[in-house]
Amino acid sequence: MSESLVTRHRAVLPEWLALYYQEPIEIVRAEGRRVTDSEGNTYLDFFAGILTNAIGYGIPEITDAVRAQLDTGVLHTSTLYLIRKQVELAEQIAELSGIPGAKVFFTNSGTEANETALMLATQYRRSNQVLALRNSYHGRAFATVGITGNRGWSASSLSPVKVSYVHGGYRYRDAFAGLSDADYIKACTEDLRDVLRTTTSGDVAALIAEPIQGVGGFNVPPDGLFASFKEVLDEYGILLISDEVQTGWGRTGEHFWGIQAHGVTPDAMTFAKGLGNGLAIGGVVARGDVMDSLQANSISTFGGNPVATAGAKATLDYLLERDLQGNAAKLGNRLIAGLRDLGEKYDIVGDVRGKGLMAGVEFVGHGKEPSPAHAGAVLEATRERGLLVGKGGLHNNVIRIAPPMTLTDEETGEALEILDASFAAAQEGLR
Ligand code: PMP
Repeated sequence: MSESLVTRHRAVLPEWLALYYQEPIEIVRAEGRRVTDSEGNTYLDFFAGILTNAIGYGIPEITDAVRAQLDTGVLHTSTLYLIRKQVELAEQIAELSGIPGAKVFFTNSGTEANETALMLATQYRRSNQVLALRNSYHGRAFATVGITGNRGWSASSLSPVKVSYVHGGYRYRDAFAGLSDADYIKACTEDLRDVLRTTTSGDVAALIAEPIQGVGGFNVPPDGLFASFKEVLDEYGILLISDEVQTGWGRTGEHFWGIQAHGVTPDAMTFAKGLGNGLAIGGVVARGDVMDSLQANSISTFGGNPVATAGAKATLDYLLERDLQGNAAKLGNRLIAGLRDLGEKYDIVGDVRGKGLMAGVEFVGHGKEPSPAHAGAVLEATRERGLLVGKGGLHNNVIRIAPPMTLTDEETGEALEILDASFAAAQEGLR
């Protein structure tokens, strides 16, 4: 990476726009699950699946669909005119959502999707009170930053939304850590009841939750937690919003949407990132009466534009036709089992968790003490060995692994070998 681009980046872009690696990389080419940087180094990309490229780079079916739209000359005109691909994509997502009478609104990002969902819920319920999970992440704009429960990612607390946080997000370290699944669900549900009684007036708009927390470190709650929550919410008429920005489209393997592991249908879901496989698209799918509760005109100039929806439709068709959810289940099992083996081998691994192609490894020092230094060392060590992974967690001590869903068996093996060597290097280097 040329020194000057990093220097120029730091001079002109905000300090809070984090860059990975001591020597940040510039990716200039990509194909399949591999990317190449401006220095000619090639990496297996095991973070792209979450960030944007849910199913991989340079997929001809997607590139062709986008190119065909570009060739018409219509990048976008206006949502005041009909957009065929937008309607088709909305029909498909409404059907896949399992929400009866669902309607879809498209945005350009996950933040905007959650802002919209919060606006709909607060409007529908005529209340500005919202429940969120501790350690959550829902976006970087005014309302979403205000309800984000992970302070490392929430600079502002000036949002007009009144938020109360409940347990259920970060099981490895929260107040109910160590309980059995059934007892954990019971304790969190009691906590929810208590928070509702003691910190709200009861007429709360919604509970918003990530079925598996992403930025918060790939925390997996026990199956059934949200069904138990929903029983309480229904007593009050409170809506359940599932933030599927990281967990949607079959990534968790066993289900198409993360929330389905809980045997519950939410009132709304938000999505983004992976749907466009790199193109900027997000949205909300919600009960029709909730979606139509806005009593004013609204618009998103670029949300659901012809280019983004053409790419998203091609992505969705591709992943459904090839059963990439099945591939995520199969290779996810192998990946997580491999990581569990590494967990046995290295003391610095405190916890291995995940579902499908969403796997997290939490690093610890002595006892259970969080060790961001070990996670940082693993991040650098994997890059040196040709593998890109992500970092996160409340204490910045979790390595997040989320490869594209077109992953192969061979690539899974290759990554596990690199991870093995990198954990060894981190353990050696920091002891
Ligand atoms: N929700 C979740 C669960 C996310 O992980 C993110 C992005 N990390 C967002 C919302 C915000 O999405 P975006 O960055 O596209 O605004």
